[in-house]
Amino acid sequence: MSALVVAIDGPAGSGKSSVSKDAARRLGFSYYDTGAAYRALAWAAMTAGIDLTNQDAVLALQKGADYRASEDPDSQTFLINGEDVTHAIRGGDVSGAVSAIAQHTLVRAGLVEHFRKVLADCENPGIIMEGRDITTVVAPEAPVRVLLTADESVRIGRRQAELAGTTAAPVAESLKARDKSDSSVVDFMNAAPGVTLVDSGPLTFEQTVDALLSIIATVRSAQ
Ligand code: C5P
Repeated sequence: MSALVVAIDGPAGSGKSSVSKDAARRLGFSYYDTGAAYRALAWAAMTAGIDLTNQDAVLALQKGADYRASEDPDSQTFLINGEDVTHAIRGGDVSGAVSAIAQHTLVRAGLVEHFRKVLADCENPGIIMEGRDITTVVAPEAPVRVLLTADESVRIGRRQAELAGTTAAPVAESLKARDKSDSSVVDFMNAAPGVTLVDSGPLTFEQTVDALLSIIATVRSAQ
């Protein structure tokens, strides 16, 4: 039996990673963060001194890359070409650069193919995959598709809390710039037909996880 695919999209700071991880943990599902693959590729390109705006160069790197993700919601590790970049890809330099490689259509197509293989190879009863284009491009046929949103001010506030000690204004600017650039390639602000919208703004973390779990339970009971 193939794994139940739960596709989650949303902008930066929507809470999709922490909510998806907690739901996966409770259900015994795999968890896959597609943003980590984009970040790892950006890290590899930066480390190799590649011009991130050069699609051919980034594509060559992407085609030869070996990605390994733990898929365990309790222990997230990400390796690219054997190098453990779990922590390096969370740095501000990678966050500021990743949107540039995410603009390249052919690079995205290669990553989409990789993500579909991850879904097909999953041996757990289910997998929660999150990103920006999972509900629309990677897995438009997924039985559960959710867009997790929150007002920009809420998302900025959350990001600032995560990055305690940093100045507020640059955090807000970088989140806005990333969303603006990313939205030019894929729409993750509006729910596509058939995608359930969950606004996490007025909800606590637990309530948001419960909302996701109840959507998944409804689909499972109908299967
Ligand atoms: O999810 P996260 O914020 O870590 O994603 C990092 C970046 O990877 C995003 O800003 C976006 O440029 C890119 N991305 C994407 N499509 C996805 C996941 C991430 O373009 N499915």
